[in-house]
Amino acid sequence: MPRLVRAWACQFRCGYKVQTSKVRMKEHEDWCYMNPVNRACKSCGRYLLQESDGSEPGGSYCDEDNLGGKLRQDCEKWIPESETEAENA
Ligand SMILES: [Zn+2]
Repeated sequence: MPRLVRAWACQFRCGYKVQTSKVRMKEHEDWCYMNPVNRACKSCGRYLLQESDGSEPGGSYCDEDNLGGKLRQDCEKWIPESETEAENA
């Protein structure tokens, strides 16, 4: 019979596995790509993940820069996702 344990999940809902250690989860949150403080591509309003349609390969895109397949942290062009939603409204 499995035991029930208490676990901690990332507050930024990045999908990272849960931790039974609150301290370890805090460490994760400090570098999490969804933490706005890190200004990372995946939490940026300019980031677009293009899925492959079979003829063209998919990949990560940014409307400001050529990412060249590399995701960034501490990007000076980072904007919150809510800003692009406002632009498109
Ligand atoms: Zn996270």
